Amino acid sequence: MSHDVIIIGAGPGGLACARKTAGLGLTTLVLERKEKIGKKVCAGGITWNGLIKNVPEDISERQFCRQHIFTRFQRTCVTSPTPIIATVNREKLGREMAQKAMEAGAEIRLGCQVTAIHGQTIHCTSERSGTDHRYTCTWLVGADGSSSLVRRSLGLPVVAAGVGITYQIPGNFPEMEWHLNTALFANGYSWVFPHRDSASIGAYVDARRMKASQLKANLCRWGDSRGYPLKQHRAAAELINFDFRGWRFGNTFLIGDAAGLASGLTGEGIFPAIVSGEIVGRYIADSETDLADLHKLINNNKLHARMVSISGKNNILATLLAETVTFGLKKKLLDFSAVEMAV
Ligand SMILES: Cc1cc2nc3c(=O)[nH]c(=O)nc-3n(C[C@H](O)[C@H](O)[C@H](O)COP(=O)(O)OP(=O)(O)OC[C@H]3O[C@@H](n4cnc5c(N)ncnc54)[C@H](O)[C@@H]3O)c2cc1C
Repeated sequence: MSHDVIIIGAGPGGLACARKTAGLGLTTLVLERKEKIGKKVCAGGITWNGLIKNVPEDISERQFCRQHIFTRFQRTCVTSPTPIIATVNREKLGREMAQKAMEAGAEIRLGCQVTAIHGQTIHCTSERSGTDHRYTCTWLVGADGSSSLVRRSLGLPVVAAGVGITYQIPGNFPEMEWHLNTALFANGYSWVFPHRDSASIGAYVDARRMKASQLKANLCRWGDSRGYPLKQHRAAAELINFDFRGWRFGNTFLIGDAAGLASGLTGEGIFPAIVSGEIVGRYIADSETDLADLHKLINNNKLHARMVSISGKNNILATLLAETVTFGLKKKLLDFSAVEMAV
């Protein structure tokens, strides 16, 4: 069966793209390997600039006008009259975005694992029935995350990626915290991102700098020192691709983590996925579409990637960056948006 657009992956990037292409009159099919939309290893933090512009306000669980930042030598609290970051429930975000994409006319097939791509022909297996299907399309969009099959089919390796680990701990956590402890997390950090009745407590680092097993051990050590019983809970980890090599390859496009558009510095990837999905969707329908916001995103991605590469060279440089940024925030020389992707 042939469609104008086939999108592989029903994450925030794929669903944002599907809403646009279907809304602009193109027949759109989304293929998603999971049976349920939205479940994803994630801390669920969305910067306020990104949230207001792109996500319905009612899906946010908690909103924070204060950010507590700790380094080895300093601590500071950044405040703002409007929330700086909100946390969202990824399943709820996924459901809302899927609803909007379907209302615009997109078809979403769940439990459909794409197994091979030959040009614009896509082979997939239905998880439930075990049957194989073949689809063709005019435009193919890879929205299939950090281990993207579409990207691999284009022969584009992922060299620069971060690794993120999170534990979802039940309880009421009042404050949002960032811990730039370079002795434990090198050029990464650990976090406490409170949700409604729980918090994501986790850590992120450039995967070239530290192995996931070491990051997990250091996170648990740090958790013990703060009184968080992380070892009693189940950890979940995934890669976050920030190795951007392009978004258009003939009639095939890459968006979100598949394109490597997440921030190498912080691991922020929801906003880049939604924005790149929307712009690529519009571009497929109209090649004259304004690409300024996509280029802004790409520039931020490259800047963050450069910063993480430099600070990843050794712990002195990592400490220098962490202390300088924190000092800048403390003295109000820097705004928190300096580390966001939504600017
Ligand atoms: C521990 C951790 C914490 C994070 N915290 C944050 C945070 O607080 N804020 C933030 O902004 N970002 C965060 N991120 C990053 C964020 O989760 C991703 O950047 C974001 O989800 C990318 O969206 P996407 O649509 O590009 O890809 P994804 O959300 O990964 O969606 C890809 C979809 O494609 C599907 N898929 C993959 N392969 C196939 C296939 N072969 N066939 C069919 N379907 C397929 C997958 O099942 C998935 O549903 C975090 C990541 C990690 C690992």
